[in-house]
Amino acid sequence: MKPEEAWNIAYSQMEIQFDRASFETWLRGAAFLGFEAGVFRVGVGNAYARDMLQNRLYRDVRRVVSDVWGERVELCFEVYKPPAPASGDEDLPLFRLLARQAAENTPLHQKIGRPVRPDLPESELNPRFTFQRFVVNSANRLTVEAALAVAESPASVYNPFLLYGGVGLGKTHLLQAIAHACRERGLRAIYIPSEAFTNDLVDAIRQKTTAMFRDKYRSADVLLVDDIQFIAGKESTQEEFFHTFNTLYTFNKQIVLASDRHPGQLHTLEDRLRSRFGGGLIMDLQPPEFETRLAILEMWAEERGVKLPPGVAETIANRARTNVRELEGIFNQIVATSQLSRRALSVDVAQGVLDGYRRPRHHVTLARVLDVTARYHGVSVSELTGPRRTQKLTLARQIGMYLAREVTQASLPQIGEAFGGRAHSTVLHSCNKIAEDLETDELLRRGVETMQKELFGGAD
Ligand code: ADP
Ligand code: MG
Repeated sequence: MKPEEAWNIAYSQMEIQFDRASFETWLRGAAFLGFEAGVFRVGVGNAYARDMLQNRLYRDVRRVVSDVWGERVELCFEVYKPPAPASGDEDLPLFRLLARQAAENTPLHQKIGRPVRPDLPESELNPRFTFQRFVVNSANRLTVEAALAVAESPASVYNPFLLYGGVGLGKTHLLQAIAHACRERGLRAIYIPSEAFTNDLVDAIRQKTTAMFRDKYRSADVLLVDDIQFIAGKESTQEEFFHTFNTLYTFNKQIVLASDRHPGQLHTLEDRLRSRFGGGLIMDLQPPEFETRLAILEMWAEERGVKLPPGVAETIANRARTNVRELEGIFNQIVATSQLSRRALSVDVAQGVLDGYRRPRHHVTLARVLDVTARYHGVSVSELTGPRRTQKLTLARQIGMYLAREVTQASLPQIGEAFGGRAHSTVLHSCNKIAEDLETDELLRRGVETMQKELFGGAD
């Protein structure tokens, strides 16, 4: 494998594995520059990102790149100016292709740009995170309508507006959509992940520029703070945030927050902050249903000029059920694989990628899956792997295979082997059947969740 290819693969894996805010803030657009003597040289957009990657994220990035490259490597991050995209899309690495397509889809007024006010801590917004690109469905309709209302009349309807939900469900997307809409109307909207807010504060304290720090944030018409669960437990940040919050609120400015859980469950959050949050509107985001996942995939495919043959979208949507970010990662990987290998996109290509797809972070063994599944169903492991085919045993087996596929690193044949030498097509059939049933069967879903929790709880 060429070093550049290795970097590109590592890049798409980091997109799936890393927390979205970190990826978007520090890694988005990071490009391969060169490789010498075991060192990958990587170009990034600014000195802030370079320092962050060189110091705080170094080991995480190195681990992913080393895994792909096959031996331990070192990294060197440099600030660089990305070249203007050449013609001939096929030759561009996937992410540059994406960035370029996003740029081409940017409305004219954004390309021309408004005069930039100096000293604005606004982080760049992702041009793809707009309301137009957010697929609305019955489960998230009210939340999106509330977000639209906030964007249309900041500080008059719901203030603060707090959005919460699990990873990869579109919190950052909606926050930035509000920011885009406000900026389009000339308002000063500051979007900032709470981690960056904290860093900024720590710097300000160190350099004795806290007054400037306050002015910056308090000059916002709309302040959007992402992932506020990270400020829970950090006292000085909470203190500063509380004052910023009060000032903005008093001057009738809009505050929008996102958290990965309900503020009531952020246990180390100061009470006075919690009650402030509770004074506005709190809305949640739920995982999208099957049809919505299909609609999202269709939208991405259309944007990228990719044709999805029958069955491909269904195959992907069946796999990533609870997390749109994962859906996106899988989709990107499938498109990249078909482009790099110059094979037409098909159910086979998709299935091949899914078979090799590694779920990050969990290292659960097949033996554990057998054990937990057997115990949950009140059968023995030898019955589970044996030849008998009562209704109860067959279902338990199918669920076990599904779990194995979800939480272990094992391939289909390995799973078949562990379940008493069953064919790999049987495993695939079982996984698809359970994935389908999970859509409608609440009881099954709860059972699977319970077993997953037990598996992760015991393995982490
Ligand atoms: P979170 O901040 O909740 O972890 P993100 O906002 O980063 O999640 O969303 C993850 C990815 O999924 C993004 O690329 C986002 O555009 C996409 N996404 C999530 N929900 C939707 C949706 N309803 N329609 C379109 N894209 C979505
Ligand atoms: Mg986010």
